[in-house]
Amino acid sequence: MKLSQLGEFGLIDRIRRMVSVGRGVRLGIGDDAAWVDHPQGSSLITADLLIEGIHFDLGWTSLADLGYKSLAVNLSDIAAMGGVPAYAMLSLGIPAHFDSKQLDELYRGINGLAKKHGVTVVGGDTNLADSLLISVCVVGHPPRKPICRSGAHVGDDIYVTGTLGDAALGLALLRRKRLRQSPAMAQLRKRHHRPTPRLAAAALLAERNLPTAMIDISDGLIQDLGHICQASHVGATIQQDKLPLSNAYRALAGKIAMRCAMSGGEDYELLFCAASHQRKRIEKLNRLAGVAISRIGVCMPVGNGVHVVDASGATIAVKAAGHDHFKRP
Ligand code: ADP
Ligand code: MG
Repeated sequence: MKLSQLGEFGLIDRIRRMVSVGRGVRLGIGDDAAWVDHPQGSSLITADLLIEGIHFDLGWTSLADLGYKSLAVNLSDIAAMGGVPAYAMLSLGIPAHFDSKQLDELYRGINGLAKKHGVTVVGGDTNLADSLLISVCVVGHPPRKPICRSGAHVGDDIYVTGTLGDAALGLALLRRKRLRQSPAMAQLRKRHHRPTPRLAAAALLAERNLPTAMIDISDGLIQDLGHICQASHVGATIQQDKLPLSNAYRALAGKIAMRCAMSGGEDYELLFCAASHQRKRIEKLNRLAGVAISRIGVCMPVGNGVHVVDASGATIAVKAAGHDHFKRP
């Protein structure tokens, strides 16, 4: 079958069936990070690959921002499990025309974020390549009970941290080169270039064992919610009017309206489910977490699918579900 028909997630599922599960694997392919045993305890492991021309364009991304982002997206996957990142392996494919100053820039971005979160780069690999390629693998410490995508129950509330759609709108605006600069635009661009891994919020939630399921939003709210629903065998109803939007997004979304907030990727906010009796405890975390936590919907029986409704309860059609690297309509 062509990869364009199989899609990214069909392909991953196929790979999952091809590899055998070895000893000590508590959680293998299919979540934000793997969870594996070792003689002294257990670790979380995650990897992400960024490719020039696919994930970034050096015409509008600085190398320092790119370094930051390549680590941030991995830290975000550790956050999605409720873990604490510790070590990174960083592999590079570098075009021949690059010089050492450019690599200094890349590492400046990586080091800034690594230092902030106590992460050490402990190795990697370097090779010549046709275009810039950055592969990062991060190892982290799990909380007492890592939070998987698969634990949500019918009736659980659905929450997100921060605001939605900023990164995707920021990218859409970056592509429109002739737009006037404004503080709102700078804010959205920053959200695209330098996403914040929500490690502090995730650790607070995990310590209190509040989420029943969690994922980070890399491919868009609806798509990533779909992953939780599939893994947990539940459906979901999302209230569009509850989706948290930044002032910058409201000011600049224009015709895009809610599209980026529902289906735009790369916000790297946390999306999680929690039992409804935990509402008060989660509201209290709003002040501690350093980022807003908004309740946006509820888990439904699996037959419900994933629905978005407006304030009157009427279903809203969502055109694009989210990002898939392979799938073509
Ligand atoms: P995320 O968006 O959280 O980074 P992905 O959608 O990239 O997650 O991956 C989903 C799951 O599939 C993860 O558990 C990841 O480790 C696994 N995965 C992705 N690509 C491969 C591959 N080529 N081989 C094995 N596992 C893979
Ligand atoms: Mg993820």
